[in-house]
Amino acid sequence: MNPTEAAFSRFVVAADGWCSGVSRMPSSNFDARPADAKIDLLVVHNISLPPGQFGGQFISDLFANRLDYDAHPYFDQLRALRVSAHFLIRRDGIAMQFVSARDRAWHAGHSSFRGRDGCNDFSIGIELEGSDFEPFSGIQYEMLAALTVALQAAYPLTDVAGHEHIAPGRKTDPGPFFDWGDYHLRYQQALRRLQSSTIAAHSLHFHALA
Ligand SMILES: [Zn+2]
Repeated sequence: MNPTEAAFSRFVVAADGWCSGVSRMPSSNFDARPADAKIDLLVVHNISLPPGQFGGQFISDLFANRLDYDAHPYFDQLRALRVSAHFLIRRDGIAMQFVSARDRAWHAGHSSFRGRDGCNDFSIGIELEGSDFEPFSGIQYEMLAALTVALQAAYPLTDVAGHEHIAPGRKTDPGPFFDWGDYHLRYQQALRRLQSSTIAAHSLHFHALA
């Protein structure tokens, strides 16, 4: 079994919004979505702490509000920040979940997609450990594709966009090194592997490839 097939057998999003096969690290940085929210957008981000450095626990510590703010000069500006994402995919492909997909994670900030503001209300946020300045790892794309399909099986997703697309001028991630074509290709392969007519019936629209 290749890593994606292994991920498929593991990645199943339950009714409570938590995904099996993913390490759970519950964050308190979330609240309820609006009662009428339709979860139809996936937002891709990149993050690294300190910027450009990979590995370690700093990202999950930030989402858990337990970052050692004295551990690096850059962290000082993060003291008042209360943020989270639903998921993080590390460089080694390990996936973590911080907030139930049913709830509103705090990943997008001031944002707009197709005329709708406040994308946190109706989106699921996936962070890739990475930066705007170097390529992501192949296993990250594989896991992202597998997670995308698993989420699509659970929610009426219609679109995938980058943070840079929903907050242009303010955000630049996932950035120029994120390969949307590669993501889309692996997503299509993942979709075929799942062979689910319910999902195949409505392929996701990849905003960056429009
Ligand atoms: Zn972002």
